[in-house]
Amino acid sequence: MKRITESLADHTWLKIGGKAELAVPETKAELVDLLQECHAHDRPYRILGNGSNLLVSDEGVDQLVIKTTEACTDVEFDGNRANVGASVMAPQFVNACIEQDLGGYEYLYSVPGTIGGAIYMNAGRGKSYGLTIADHLESVEIFDDGEVRELDVDEIEFRHRYSSFQDYDDWVILSATFDLPSQQAEEGRAKARERMQKVKSRERSKPNAGSVFKSGAKLPLQKVPPGGLSVGDAHFVSKNRICHTGGGNKQGYRTADLAGKVAQSTLPTVRNTRSRVGYLEVTSLLYYE
Ligand SMILES: Cc1cc2nc3c(=O)[nH]c(=O)nc-3n(C[C@H](O)[C@H](O)[C@H](O)COP(=O)(O)OP(=O)(O)OC[C@H]3O[C@@H](n4cnc5c(N)ncnc54)[C@H](O)[C@@H]3O)c2cc1C
Repeated sequence: MKRITESLADHTWLKIGGKAELAVPETKAELVDLLQECHAHDRPYRILGNGSNLLVSDEGVDQLVIKTTEACTDVEFDGNRANVGASVMAPQFVNACIEQDLGGYEYLYSVPGTIGGAIYMNAGRGKSYGLTIADHLESVEIFDDGEVRELDVDEIEFRHRYSSFQDYDDWVILSATFDLPSQQAEEGRAKARERMQKVKSRERSKPNAGSVFKSGAKLPLQKVPPGGLSVGDAHFVSKNRICHTGGGNKQGYRTADLAGKVAQSTLPTVRNTRSRVGYLEVTSLLYYE
């Protein structure tokens, strides 16, 4: 297992975040052993997936950060049932399903996150489509309170970009089981291609975290001048997308401030509160402090 102290800017899509002690288990057994060790010694930790939905403090993170991208990589199929490790990337999972003549999640082909992160965020398509990863989910295998156990989907609450996992800092998603609809591989490929075609025009060349505001809350277009709106190193490229244009990692708060302030000034009904996990309500981004 790799253990390093490193800037989290190197591990997040926004390229923002100070230093933290990082552990990168390479197998599920290593991950569970590490979690058990933390549990036994009362050592707090934070889970990092692919960092595509995180805004990390410039001050870094005091807790041990456990990066899960390499630990739980298995994907197994049994008829229409898929058991997928939490570290598997969403597009990789979609591809594996397509090859099995299974469908349901082609719209997640453009999501650069892990299955664990996607379940935690209840990742999906825009709110009006009513499609999220919870749709075909049957159960989730988690680490909780020193042991590995299975949660039935009925025991988990899902709302727009919310899952119960956001209320439990110490729960770690290890794998998930889905019951997927049958679909010809060719149809699945066409849907995945169509999805990528749709997102092609979006700015992805600069560090960003996808949509910033939750669906329904969008910066009024007239507030975005031609060429975008900038505050510090944060740049609104559209009504719902911020890019981070700075080179260093000292601008995290400015980017966060921009999202919060713009939302508050333009959307008076929006609250700007943070819960204990540092969730900024106006955005789908998660603070890591
Ligand atoms: C270009 C771009 C496009 C995007 N498009 C979409 C989209 O279409 N739809 C959408 O919903 N989102 C989208 N996102 C947001 C993001 O990709 C998703 O929310 C993704 O599912 C996050 O996964 P991650 O592995 O990157 O999680 P991270 O950003 O690493 O972590 C997010 C949160 O999940 C927790 N977490 C991660 N893994 C686990 C685990 N195994 N167990 C417990 N907690 C865990 C972390 O602790 C953290 O709190 C986009 C982001 C980008 C950058």
